[in-house]
Amino acid sequence: MKKTAVCIVGAGPGGAATALKLHHLGIPCVLVDKAVFPRDKVCGDAISGKVALVLRRIDPAIMERFEAADTEQTSVWGIRFVAPNKKEIEVPFRIGYDPNIDPKQGYVSKRTDFDLRLVEEVKRCDSIDFHEGISIEKYEKTPDGYRVSNADGSFQVEAPLLVVANGANSAFSRHHAGLEKDEKHHAGAVRAYYRNVTGMHPDGFIELHFLKEINPGYLWIFPLPGGHANVGLGMRSDFISKRRYNLTKGLQGLLESHADLRERFKNAEQMGKFTGYGLPLGSKKRHISGDHFMLVGDAGHLIDPLSGEGIGNAVYSGFIAAEQAQKCLETNDFSPKTMEAYDVRVARVLRKEMEMSYRLQQMMARPWLVNLMANWVSRDRRLIYLIAQMYSDMDVRKKAFNPLFWVKLLMGKV
Ligand SMILES: Cc1cc2nc3c(=O)[nH]c(=O)nc-3n(C[C@H](O)[C@H](O)[C@H](O)COP(=O)(O)OP(=O)(O)OC[C@H]3O[C@@H](n4cnc5c(N)ncnc54)[C@H](O)[C@@H]3O)c2cc1C
Repeated sequence: MKKTAVCIVGAGPGGAATALKLHHLGIPCVLVDKAVFPRDKVCGDAISGKVALVLRRIDPAIMERFEAADTEQTSVWGIRFVAPNKKEIEVPFRIGYDPNIDPKQGYVSKRTDFDLRLVEEVKRCDSIDFHEGISIEKYEKTPDGYRVSNADGSFQVEAPLLVVANGANSAFSRHHAGLEKDEKHHAGAVRAYYRNVTGMHPDGFIELHFLKEINPGYLWIFPLPGGHANVGLGMRSDFISKRRYNLTKGLQGLLESHADLRERFKNAEQMGKFTGYGLPLGSKKRHISGDHFMLVGDAGHLIDPLSGEGIGNAVYSGFIAAEQAQKCLETNDFSPKTMEAYDVRVARVLRKEMEMSYRLQQMMARPWLVNLMANWVSRDRRLIYLIAQMYSDMDVRKKAFNPLFWVKLLMGKV
């Protein structure tokens, strides 16, 4: 029986970030994962600037070491959007960027590599007691916190505070914290790796294809080192159910039959099979803490409802959970009321962004509107500047929902 201050279940980006931040706060923890690393995680592998920002806040050396392993990552400088009417729009993260001088804005790195890098960071920290290859199956509430154990009880940890970061299928989230799957706020996605896809952007732009055949879902092509690409298709789960849509067949069909894609994939070679997984979206407000526990990352349903980006929100929530743990340990108060400060902080950082993404997700479900916007953007360069600003500036994003703003823009007054 191990006793510790904080027990973290799951060493993906959310759990690893929690443990790393706790280490830098001088708080010991036990971190346990059912997998042995390196392990794969079904993902698009896009690592946003938000991930880099949070990891740098924990310790700048983490990102320095990650960037030094440059054969494992592609630098991303922007996004290529493809509208249902096939219009292509390329929007850089920063207008006038210079890949040779500017700090990197985002990456694509296989999760096998990225998550292993995080676990290597964990292993550098003597205050993190890390265990791989142990699946936590039992959660028992004790008077002073939680006792967690594997199936046969040969591994047990007791802690006043439990951080649950074991991903989208977390049994604790469902059965103990009451976060049920809601298909309107959940998506399904599949992906496969390819090599020799042609027509990739020279500066590693990631591609989002909002094709009419899969509306309101999207197809992505994300560039990886060595001429490889992560190619996938995602859609909200209620639409998948309603249409009885098969994501793998849908994606294969598009790559074979869609005129533009067929051309780009004609000499491409699929590496490995299609694999799928669920994405619990953050478009519905959830309670992500309780008596002596906090839910981090996918276990707390924190994936962006428009882009499907979840790594950034997982590390951000892990960072906040560690700071909340420090407060609770100082006051020895783990009551639901005190733990709620975690919900409040996560909401302050992520809620506004999630709400806007949800509104945009609903807008994207109207192909005529997306086509209209795409036509307008391709004629008016000012809009490229505006969208580039929207990546990072929440106020600009907010303005975009005000019809008056668009009238002013049309009249040249913005
Ligand atoms: C197809 C697809 C594409 C995606 N594309 C992107 C993208 O391009 N960019 C992006 O930012 N996000 C993307 N996401 C979302 C992203 O993958 C997740 O949001 C992210 O992995 C969440 O991190 P996490 O640490 O919360 O959970 P995970 O990464 O799922 O890690 C959970 C960890 O818990 C462990 N675990 C599970 N059960 C147990 C147990 N019982 N005991 C012990 N350990 C356990 C697992 O082994 C795992 O290591 C995508 C998701 C999918 C499905």
